[in-house]
Amino acid sequence: MISQTKISRKQRTLIIISGLLISLLIIILVTTQYNKSSKTKINNSFKRLLKNTHFIETSNFLLNKINSPYLNISYKIENGDSLEKIFNKFRIDKKELSQINSGIGKIVKGNYLKSGRNISLVVKKKDGIRKIETINIPISKSIDILVQKDEKQNFVSQKIITQLFKKINLAEGIIKNSLYNAATKNNVDPNIIMDFASIYGFEIDFQRDIRKNDTFQIVYETFEDEFGELYSIGNIIYAFMSVNGKEIPLYRFQGKDFSGHFDVNGKSVQKALMKTPINGARLSSKYGLRKHPILGFTKKHNGTDFAAKEGTPIMASGAGTIVRAKWCGGGGNCIKIRHNSTYSTVYAHLKNFATNIKSGIKVKQGQIIGYVGSTGMSTGPHLHYEVHVNGKPVNSQKLKLPSGKILKGEDRQKFEIKRIKTDAMIADIIEDKLEN
Ligand SMILES: [Zn+2]
Repeated sequence: MISQTKISRKQRTLIIISGLLISLLIIILVTTQYNKSSKTKINNSFKRLLKNTHFIETSNFLLNKINSPYLNISYKIENGDSLEKIFNKFRIDKKELSQINSGIGKIVKGNYLKSGRNISLVVKKKDGIRKIETINIPISKSIDILVQKDEKQNFVSQKIITQLFKKINLAEGIIKNSLYNAATKNNVDPNIIMDFASIYGFEIDFQRDIRKNDTFQIVYETFEDEFGELYSIGNIIYAFMSVNGKEIPLYRFQGKDFSGHFDVNGKSVQKALMKTPINGARLSSKYGLRKHPILGFTKKHNGTDFAAKEGTPIMASGAGTIVRAKWCGGGGNCIKIRHNSTYSTVYAHLKNFATNIKSGIKVKQGQIIGYVGSTGMSTGPHLHYEVHVNGKPVNSQKLKLPSGKILKGEDRQKFEIKRIKTDAMIADIIEDKLEN
């Protein structure tokens, strides 16, 4: 008997809810049908519907049924509004208002409530009191202020970037001692220099080919907020190097399932392995016979040594799988990468490994795998680099690698258009620079 009454009570509630829902639906349908002729009329009738006490009670009842104590408010800021006025307007408890105001004041000075913009509020209702949960205020085209409670229930304000603007930058210079020095003098971000060096890493031996007064040009993307503050770096869309009398311009091209840098003939500069897996270094010991600096006797040097400052990043010279990343005696901390069934490379005397670099993981070409050190049998900070072909060490600096992809057909046509556009854009940038 008892359980039966329980069921029938539940059933009764269900009937009431569904009844209300149906009548609500009928109200909406009838009013919209009635005003079908014009859109504004529908809007007006909907507004009227919102004012309808029966509708409000019904929706409140339904809101309570789905257990949501939260209320989302989107409000268009009017002239002369303050947070206090807005709180008053929506009957929000003002106990925490001063805490919120002082938090926002730390981020933005002056009047940040610009009329016409939409402020969003989330309010929690409890025991008849409306308490603020979060506030989102757009203060400019690309920045919002978000006010939220932290784990200690204190309000904290933070800047949120909502939109970034792409900027095309041109950097150029003359190399006096190293590319790295010349580029940093021109305020080029170190990451861009690394990218630039790895693009040319196939074509240029940075230790031997570069001569004093060689020139370079880098056109690259950056992403900034509306005030010009840098947030991230994009691609190098054009690169140029004049090396030892030879000019090498390269254009970035994005195909359907590939991207890379191509020369004027549509040929990719990318090869399976880079000549120099390190930037800003000096070739200090060549491949071949030499007197070992520590052992003192003549021994064949199975690799190439690049002297560089301790901590200089070392790149994976090609894509592949790490098959060793550990201490290996005389070689100190060393890494071995297997690129394919033919090629593998070895990097020795590392100070340490880059984050997440361990045996079994896949690496991309140019990815930083570790840092220059002097671990193991070594007389000073340098990278010992070996290339193995079919398991046997070869001279990496003399190695002829198969040439890269050549754009054909539709890709080639698209590339030519891209190339002309890029050239025109660079001419514009240079013109602007000369005018200013
Ligand atoms: Zn060596």
